[in-house]
Amino acid sequence: MTDHRPPQKDAYDLILEAIDSHTYRPGDRLVESELADRFGVSRTPVREALQRLETQSLLTRDGRSLIVASLDHTQMSELYVVRGELEGLAAKLAAHHATPEEVRVLRDMLDQDRTLVDNPEALSRANRRFHKQIHLASHNRFLVRQLDLVHRSMALLATTSIAAEGRPKDTLDEHDKIVTAIENKDADAAYTALRDHISAAYVTRLKLDASAVEALDVRF
Ligand SMILES: [Zn+2]
Repeated sequence: MTDHRPPQKDAYDLILEAIDSHTYRPGDRLVESELADRFGVSRTPVREALQRLETQSLLTRDGRSLIVASLDHTQMSELYVVRGELEGLAAKLAAHHATPEEVRVLRDMLDQDRTLVDNPEALSRANRRFHKQIHLASHNRFLVRQLDLVHRSMALLATTSIAAEGRPKDTLDEHDKIVTAIENKDADAAYTALRDHISAAYVTRLKLDASAVEALDVRF
């Protein structure tokens, strides 16, 4: 047998394996002709494999290049899972432990933030303040510390999902649900409302990323 690889493996399997084994690392460019040479296959199946891997989000576009999806994207997903659960827990604990004054501050913040519906930048800052207030109202310093870590990582994301179409109003409506649940001392509702809010923000961010990829496809 002259071929070093089992005959049943196609271009897709070979590239996937190369990514798996870190032959290609996150951020590395994948070039059709180079892959064809390396694996001794023709360019058409390589092109099809690349398209498939891109559809599966294992590859992403960087200008004209296809690159192995960066850790940032993975980290972002991981971050949203952790964030959703930790923020949900904060809301749940806030429903139990927030003082009447703290609940009042949340309600006042929300009323003020409604004036920022046309100012995504300011609303984004207000959003961070609002969430921080819920963290503090949980009265659990270990949770506050973990959430600080999560929010620091969130700051590494270049854009804010709040600026997306329709998000300012939705964000405020979701915040209203959270505050109402905390006011009612309904821990389960507070947890669910906050976790759903983070989930909605994540969906928005994924859509923003998808339309960015789409825009590149149109351009090239
Ligand atoms: Zn929010």
